[in-house]
Amino acid sequence: MKRRLVLFDIDGTLLSSQGAGGRALKGALREVFGKFGPTNDYSFAGRTDPQIVLDLMGRLGFEERFIRERMPQVFEVYLQRLGEEIRKGPPPTLFPGVLPLLEELKRDERAILGLLTGNIEGGARIKLRALNLEGYFSIGAYGSDAEERNRLPLIALKRAKEEFDDHLEGEDMVIIGDTPLDVECAQGVGACSIAVATGVVRKERLEASGADYLFDDFREYHRVMEAIFSSKG
Ligand SMILES: [Mg+2]
Repeated sequence: MKRRLVLFDIDGTLLSSQGAGGRALKGALREVFGKFGPTNDYSFAGRTDPQIVLDLMGRLGFEERFIRERMPQVFEVYLQRLGEEIRKGPPPTLFPGVLPLLEELKRDERAILGLLTGNIEGGARIKLRALNLEGYFSIGAYGSDAEERNRLPLIALKRAKEEFDDHLEGEDMVIIGDTPLDVECAQGVGACSIAVATGVVRKERLEASGADYLFDDFREYHRVMEAIFSSKG
């Protein structure tokens, strides 16, 4: 049996934290660096948490080394605040079809379910826990593993080979996300890419990214299942 390593992005793909992630990071940066600049023209979507911190604080003129030294502290405060923001803010929401899709995949022996996300691991856990999604994913590659998203697929693959199936290759991976950056990181390792337009990126831009499959959302989850298992590999 040929298995598929199915990796989901979190924000914009599975769920919306209703801004809790952004508010928590903003608060943490303000607390640690004493300031936080305008982010109007900066897109968080598809970027890893460490990359966002480097970009935003770099724009404010802080030196890279200075930023890196404070990174652990930023994320410590961030995780604390993320929990608080989720508790007090509007509750995070799941996108349509996500739950039946995950249930279906969980039942399917051919699928190894995991995460490929720019969230640091602790942040990913908090967001998933808020919606009882933690139990679905047996493997993950996170923003805390690498700053560049393009490095995450091979990290996930290595972990999956060690833990589940040594025969897995790049083309056995299916990477599911809501931005051209998700698609790009899939293309880099010959993985199948599935884009979904539930995030902030418009469908036209996702189309242009060259995703193998594109969905408005996961409402018709049987079609998504077909895409996952009919892909190359
Ligand atoms: Mg996303």
